[in-house]
Amino acid sequence: MSGGDLRRIAFIGIGNMGWPMAARLLEAGFEVVAFDAAPDRAARFSQEVGGTAAGDAASAVRGADAVITILPTSKHVGQALEAVGDALSPGALVIEMSSGVPTATQGFARSLAEKGVAMIDAPVSGGVPRAKTGELAIMLGGEAEAVRRADPVLRAMGTTLTHVGGIGAGQAMKALNNLMGAAGFLIGIEALLIGQRFGLDPAVMVDVLNASTGMNNSTQKKFKQFVLSRRFDAGFGLDLMAKDVSVALEVGRETNTPTPFAALCRELWVSAQGLLGPGQDHTAMAQFSERLAGETLGGGNRA
Ligand code: NAD
Repeated sequence: MSGGDLRRIAFIGIGNMGWPMAARLLEAGFEVVAFDAAPDRAARFSQEVGGTAAGDAASAVRGADAVITILPTSKHVGQALEAVGDALSPGALVIEMSSGVPTATQGFARSLAEKGVAMIDAPVSGGVPRAKTGELAIMLGGEAEAVRRADPVLRAMGTTLTHVGGIGAGQAMKALNNLMGAAGFLIGIEALLIGQRFGLDPAVMVDVLNASTGMNNSTQKKFKQFVLSRRFDAGFGLDLMAKDVSVALEVGRETNTPTPFAALCRELWVSAQGLLGPGQDHTAMAQFSERLAGETLGGGNRA
């Protein structure tokens, strides 16, 4: 089957990212059968955007040329693949787009290969805004032939596709990207807190950083938009960021790489999960640093 023959796509996980990504596939002319474990989520997607909703994972994948998974963790992916059972057609391609655990994905790929089903990992970066515009960065792991087959499907969702290695390599790359994002966010918030205590205006600081060498993704796209505005609604969960930093550390352990800074970063994000409670946006991490400092950014009030 050539890459252009992947027409019918089973899309599993219509969450913050899955919804706009599946919408892009529909716009590009793919046939989409959506499934989500949350009741009514897939039905709402098919009513509001298009495609068909499936009531369970097995009926979603029956007759599909490709199956896309974009679920919170590899554990959820394992559950979804188990629910699919033998409904996958031999020759189908599984495109795992979650930010998962590389070794878990390698295990899924081995089991699927026994059924004649190929798998690649294709995690994404760019968040909800770039998922909506189809401009995601996609990091690919897997056999070259399978990556080539997926290309037309992935180009409907992303603009920067990079094949970084064998199965699991995309997810290792993604975890390391988010480790840097998580660390950049935290150090930036600490700098804003120090500056505010000194008498600097945090909004002015963000402008100066964005014209200077301290600029990073958080200074550009998060601090004014989601922290200083007190909106805390970027659409990427704090639990998911803590998971990604943990995955990066796991890869560090497996490769016997010393990671003192990354380990501290993980401790802080995991501590914030406990302190702030479940269901928080990752930008609410700023409130954790504010509590440590006893200082609220922007308002000048004590936290
Ligand atoms: P989300 O929590 O918004 O969505 C996940 C969806 O999966 C939910 O709708 C949930 O009901 C569904 N689900 C869970 N288990 C399921 C199962 N077994 N079968 C079917 N559906 C199931 O999460 P998200 O923000 O869309 O993130 C998904 C993945 O993408 C995560 O791995 C995340 O780290 C990654 N990611 C997210 C962003 C972002 O900005 N949100 C950016 C890049 C990567």
